Parts: sequence; C-alpha cells; structure tokens
Amino acid sequence: MYEVFATNEQKKLREEVRDFVKTIPRQLLIDMDADKVRFPKEFLVEAGRRNLLGLRFPPEYGGRGLKWVDEMIALEEISTLGSSLTCLYSLVSIVGEGLSVFGNEAQKQKYLKPTLEGKMYCAEALTEPRGGSDFFGATTVARKEGSHYVLNGQKRFIVGAEGADYFLVYAVTNPEAAPHDRLSAFIVERDMGVEAKYVYGLMGTRGGGTGRIIFRDVRVPEENLLGEENGGSKVFYQMMIPERIVSGTTGSSRAMLEVAARYADKRKAFGQKIRDFEGVSFKIAESITKLDAVSALAYTVAKAVDEGIGTSGYRRRLVSEVKKFATEMQWEVINDTMQILGGIGYTSVFPVERALRDSRLQMIWTGSSEVMSVIIQHEYYKDILAKGVEGRDVEADVAPDEAEATEEKIYE
Ligand SMILES: Cc1cc2nc3c(=O)[nH]c(=O)nc-3n(C[C@H](O)[C@H](O)[C@H](O)COP(=O)(O)OP(=O)(O)OC[C@H]3O[C@@H](n4cnc5c(N)ncnc54)[C@H](O)[C@@H]3O)c2cc1C
Repeated sequence: MYEVFATNEQKKLREEVRDFVKTIPRQLLIDMDADKVRFPKEFLVEAGRRNLLGLRFPPEYGGRGLKWVDEMIALEEISTLGSSLTCLYSLVSIVGEGLSVFGNEAQKQKYLKPTLEGKMYCAEALTEPRGGSDFFGATTVARKEGSHYVLNGQKRFIVGAEGADYFLVYAVTNPEAAPHDRLSAFIVERDMGVEAKYVYGLMGTRGGGTGRIIFRDVRVPEENLLGEENGGSKVFYQMMIPERIVSGTTGSSRAMLEVAARYADKRKAFGQKIRDFEGVSFKIAESITKLDAVSALAYTVAKAVDEGIGTSGYRRRLVSEVKKFATEMQWEVINDTMQILGGIGYTSVFPVERALRDSRLQMIWTGSSEVMSVIIQHEYYKDILAKGVEGRDVEADVAPDEAEATEEKIYE
C-alpha cells in the first residue's frame, strides 16, 4: 500500500530485508511452533550481522539512522515470518528505544551497541501476575542499598524469559508517590540473579521463550538505573510508541490473503472456481480494503511520529488507533482467509491456522484492544474539549426554530 510513496532507498531496503527473510529456514518456523526451539538466537545473530536490527538508531551504536517509515517497511517483510520472530526483531527496537532515548553513553555502549549487532539479547518486563493492563499498579520493588538496588517481585509472560541476556524491568522505587511517580526502569542482566521459572504453553506465537521471571533479592548496580529514579513512566510512554506502532505492519495477513486468493482462483465447487462466488470474492475485496486501510493509517502515523506532529497525547492516540485497528482487522482478514480455504485451511497443510493462532494474541498483548480504546477516547475528549469548535459550528445547522430550541438540549 505504501508502495506508491516509497523512495528508491526504501525499495532497496525492502529488497535487502526480503533477501534476509528468504534465508530463514522453514524448519525453524515449524520447530518454533512445535516448541522445539525456544529462543532462536541465530535469527538475531544473522539480522545483526546484516545490520538490520534497530534501523532507526544512530549509526555509532549500530543502527542506520533511518526513520519509522523505513522500519515499518522492513517490518512488513519480517512479519511474513510470523509473530514470534517479528516480536524478537521488534524487541530490539522497543528496548532499544528506551536505551537510545534515556540511556547514558556507558549504557548505550554496554547494551544498545551489542544488541544492535545481534550479540546480546534483550527483553522487556512490564507485566506482573497481578495484571498487565494496570501497568502503574506494579508491585515489584527496588530498594536502594548503598550503590545497589535490591529487586524483589515477579513478572510474567515475558518473551525472552528464556534466552534474553538482559531485561528492561520496571520496579517501585517510591511506594508513597502517585502511580505515575512510583516506578523506575532498570537494565537487569540475567546473570545478576534473575530466575526464569515457567515457560508457558501458548496457543501461538511460540518459540520466543515466553515465561515468568522472578527477582529474589537481585542486586542491580545503581549505574543500571535507566533514566531518572522514579522516572519510569517517561521510559514507559516512550517505549509504547515502538511497542504499538509495529502492529501496523501487515506482512503476515497480506501473505495469508494472497494464499487464499490463489487458492480461490484454482479451487472448484459446483463446477466453477470458488472465486466466482460472491460470498468468496467479496471476502477478498473486503480483506484487501481492510489491510490497505490499516497501512494507510499506520504509515501516516509513522510519519507523524517521525516528524513529532502534535502533542505527545495526540501521538499516543494515533499509535493506539493503529494498535487497535490493525490487530482487529488482521484477525478478521486471517479468519476470512481460513474460511475461504474451507476445511483444508483448518489443517496444517496451509500455514493459515498458525497465522490465525498467532494473530489472536495481537489484540491482547502490548496493551489490549480495550486499553487502546481507553487511551483513544481519553485523548480525543481531552483534545476536542480543550479547543472548542474550530471549524463550522455544524450543531447549529438545523431549522431556525430548532436552533433556538436550546431548552430542548437537556444534559442533566
Ligand atoms: C504470549 C504473550 C507474550 C507477552 N509478552 C510480554 C512481554 O514480553 N513483556 C511484558 O511485559 N508483557 C508481555 N505480555 C503481557 C501482555 O502485555 C498482557 O497479557 C496484557 O497487557 C494484558 O494483561 P493481563 O494479561 O494481565 O490482563 P488484565 O490486565 O488482567 O486484563 C484482563 C481483561 O480485562 C480488560 N481490561 C483491563 N483493564 C481494562 C480497562 N481499564 N478497561 C477495559 N478493559 C480492561 C483487558 O482488556 C482484558 O480483556 C505477553 C503476553 C502474552 C500472552
């Protein structure tokens, strides 16, 4: 969809990523889905070797100094590999965002650079057993003791619980403060004493080492505080941009739709190709329209983020719209794709059942659809109520006697 606007450099980048994606063995995807591989480091090693990780970050740390729109183009290709490898690829961008924006020089050299080189593996640890949506209600505690913080608590559903070298962890440093001022962000190395307890049996998106991590008196040196003490909310809000905007890439669902369209062009029922039935071809029409609408929104928002358009609240709303709309539309498209394939779509003869299992998660993690709705309406109300009616006052465009009937506008 973004095709028409892509520059020659962006087209070259897409080809470069496409070449990388084609080298990933099919067996790896199958073994990850079968939980035979729990954390495929070799994928990150090779992406790093090709200088394809964290494309937005400055070249001195191993990035390419590109923009969000470029990264989205790369992600379109990566996402054809399924959600688990896309997640591992994106984690570099998400955790990297925290390190790049809030890290000091020593932290960037020690963590960001080797992560972008594919030599060190990162994870983010926000969600706790007591709940993920209520992020600011976190209970993991970091108590200051001399030159260390001592962490106690648990996080769950952490991709890379098995496999990551370090975790970006949020913990309470000021229990008395208001929710947004209680948390700090820390870079916690596994070797500092993090225990990985339980790797979950997941419906899809397998092979990312998703598990529970436990901190029992884990001593974290004070130089591993990321940003200011009690400034965790700033890091969190910054990281939610990459975390949610990546949902707007449609590589996987476009690929599945294409599988269905090719099938519909060959498969016959009642003596004719099934694409000749409106019930089938209109699903194709609706699906491609949905995906193009997702891309149009996602790339516009990527550009708005790149250019810092509007307030941070406005950008938060746009990014949340992408997360909600993109994940819901992609779920619908992949579901319709399965319908078009009929019974064989429900089997592992086609990759659609795996994509459907993968895509169900997207509406839950990194802020559920409901949480996105909470943000979207909140920021929208805040915006329109602060500025009043700026354009034509359409509410007054009624018959004159109705316009004067103000006593009929009863609000309480
Ligand atoms: C496979 C997988 C991988 C994950 N990877 C990571 C990771 O790497 N790092 C990490 O930190 N987390 C990760 N998560 C956690 C994920 O982000 C959370 O599961 C998600 O944010 C929801 O939190 P919860 O599961 O605690 O549900 P809850 O917060 O308990 O929510 C339960 C339900 O209540 C709804 N709800 C909650 N609050 C509201 C509200 N205010 N208004 C309306 N509805 C509401 C939710 O939408 C949901 O439907 C992962 C999860 C999974 C399943």
